[in-house]
Amino acid sequence: MSNGIYSVPRAYNEPIHAYMPGSAERESLKAELARQSAEIVDVPLIIGGKEVRTSTVRDVVMPHDHHHVIARYSVAGEAELKAAIDAALAAKAEWQAMPFEHRAAIFLKIAELLTTKYRDAINAATMLGQSKTVFQAEIDSACELADFFRFNVENAETIYHQQPNSSKGIWDRVEYRPLDGFVVAITPFNFTSIAGNLPSAPALMGNTVLWKPSSTAVHSNYLLMKIMMEAGLPAGVINFIPSRGVDVSKYVLPHPKMAGFHFTGSTEVFSGVFKTVGENIRTYESYPRLVGETGGKDFIFAHNTADVDALAAAMVRGAYEYQGQKCSAASRAFIPASIWDTVLEKVKALVATVTVGDVADFSNFMGAVIDRNSFDNIKGYIDRANASEDAEVVFGSYDDSVGYFVQPTLIVAKRPDYESMVKEIFGPVLTVYVYDDDKLDETLHICDTASPYGLTGAIFARDRAVIAHMESALSGTAGNFYINDKPTGAVVGQQPFGGSRASGTNDKAGSTLNLYRWISPRCIKETFVPSYDVKYPYMSEK
Ligand code: NAD
Repeated sequence: MSNGIYSVPRAYNEPIHAYMPGSAERESLKAELARQSAEIVDVPLIIGGKEVRTSTVRDVVMPHDHHHVIARYSVAGEAELKAAIDAALAAKAEWQAMPFEHRAAIFLKIAELLTTKYRDAINAATMLGQSKTVFQAEIDSACELADFFRFNVENAETIYHQQPNSSKGIWDRVEYRPLDGFVVAITPFNFTSIAGNLPSAPALMGNTVLWKPSSTAVHSNYLLMKIMMEAGLPAGVINFIPSRGVDVSKYVLPHPKMAGFHFTGSTEVFSGVFKTVGENIRTYESYPRLVGETGGKDFIFAHNTADVDALAAAMVRGAYEYQGQKCSAASRAFIPASIWDTVLEKVKALVATVTVGDVADFSNFMGAVIDRNSFDNIKGYIDRANASEDAEVVFGSYDDSVGYFVQPTLIVAKRPDYESMVKEIFGPVLTVYVYDDDKLDETLHICDTASPYGLTGAIFARDRAVIAHMESALSGTAGNFYINDKPTGAVVGQQPFGGSRASGTNDKAGSTLNLYRWISPRCIKETFVPSYDVKYPYMSEK
C-alpha cells in the first residue's frame, strides 16, 4: 500500500546504434555472432516459471546457412498447453492485484536490459535465426521492442488517468480491470519486436498470457523470455509454449476462459481463428477480444510529377530490405509510362550496388528468406512470371544450395490483376504495372480495389493538388499511408501501425488503441448522501 500518485518516466525512442567500421559496438556484436554461431541453444517451454522439456524436439537453423543448427526446442503438446492455461489462470489474481507502478517497472526494466546488457545477444539471435542484417536487427529487436515496452507503459498510464465527470454529492470512478480469463498471443517470425509486444501488451494491463512463438523465431524469442524473467516477471504471467499452431487452435482457443487473442501473421491463419472462436462462442465465459494484424499487398503509386530519384530509392528499400518479409514491404508499384524508363534505369543502378548473403558479413544488404516453404513459394511466383505472357521478369533469381537466397526481383505485369500484383508473396519481389499517364483515376481505382488488403501504401508526386487528390482517392487502401516516402519503417509513438480490410483489425500496436482491447472497465458510482424519496416532486398536483 503506497500513498503516492506516480508518473511513469516519459517514453522515448531508443537511439539506433550505427555499427560503423572500427567501432567498439561493431566488434562486440561480431564477437557475439561468433559465440552464438558456435553453440546450439537448448530451448525448453516455460510454464508457470518452470522449464519443461518434451520428447518432441525441433531444430532451428540459420536461413542463410540451412545446415547450421543454432537451437533445439521442445514442442508443447496437448498436456503442456493445458498446463500452461492452468499456470496462467493460477497467476492471474496476484498479477492483476499488483500495483501498476510495479507492473510498469518490470517492463521498463526489460527495455533497459534489452538495450544494454543484452543488446548484442538479442541482435545476434535475430540476425542468425531470422536472417536479418545488422541494421534490420537493430531497428527491430533492440529499438522497436524497447519502444513498445516504454510507450505501452506511458499509454497505460494515459488510459488509467481517464476518469468520468462527477456531479455534486457523487464520485464516479472507472477502474481498468484486465479481461476475465487468459489471453493467447501467437506471434510471427519476422519481427522480434512484434513477438515481444503481443504477449507483453496484455500482460502490462494485468492479464496473464500464453505465448506461442513462431517456430522460425524461437531462438531470439526464448532469449527475450529469459530477459523478461530476469527483470522479475512473476511465474505464470507469460507462459512460453513453442507448439504447432493447429494444436493451439484445437486445445487452447476453445477453452471457456479464453478471453483474448493477440495475433500477427497471415490473413489465412487469423481468419481460421475467427472461425474457431465463432464456432465455440457459446462455450466462452465472455466474448473473446480478437486482435490481429495480418497480411498486406503494399503499394507505391507514382504520379508523373514524382521525384524519380526518391521514388527509385523507395522502391529498392521498400521492396527488398529484410528480403521483402515485412508486412509493410512494397510489393506492387504503379508507375506512369512517361517516367518508367528513367525509373527503371535508376532502380537497376541501385540494385546493382547491393549484395545478398550471410548477415554476419555486414556489407550485405539482404540475407535469406526464412525457410524452405517461403523459398518455394517465392520461387513459384518467379517461375510462373518467367513462363507467363502477362509478365516479364526484368531481374531476379534464386539459389538454395547454401541458404534460402532470393535475389531482388522485379516483375513488370502487363495486366493489373496479374497474380503477383494482387497476392501477398512475402519475399523480395516487386511487381510494377506501368499505366498510361492519362488514366490516373482509373489506375487509382485499380489500386484501391484489386487486392483485399489495406495495410500500407505510398504515393510519390510533387504537385500538391495531385497529392491531395491521390490521398483522398486512396483513403481506404492503407492504415499507414506515406507521401514521398517508402511504405515501411513505422516507428512506435510516431506512426501507429496497423491496417484494415483483410490486413487486420487495425488496433495500432504500441498505441492506446491496442491497450484498450486488453481491459474491461468497471464504472464505480458512489453517492455520499443517498436519497430516501421514492416519489418525484413533479408528481404533486399542487
Ligand atoms: P503465419 O500466419 O504463417 O504464422 C504466424 C503464427 O501463427 C506462427 O506462430 C504460426 O506458427 C502460427 N500458426 C500457423 N498456423 C496456425 C493455426 N492453424 N492456428 C494457430 N496458429 C497458427 O505468419 P508468418 O509467416 O509468421 O508471418 C508472415 C505473415 O505475417 C505475413 O502475412 C505478414 O504480412 C504478416 N505480418 C503482419 C504484420 C502486421 O502488422 N500487419 C506484421 C508482421 C507480419
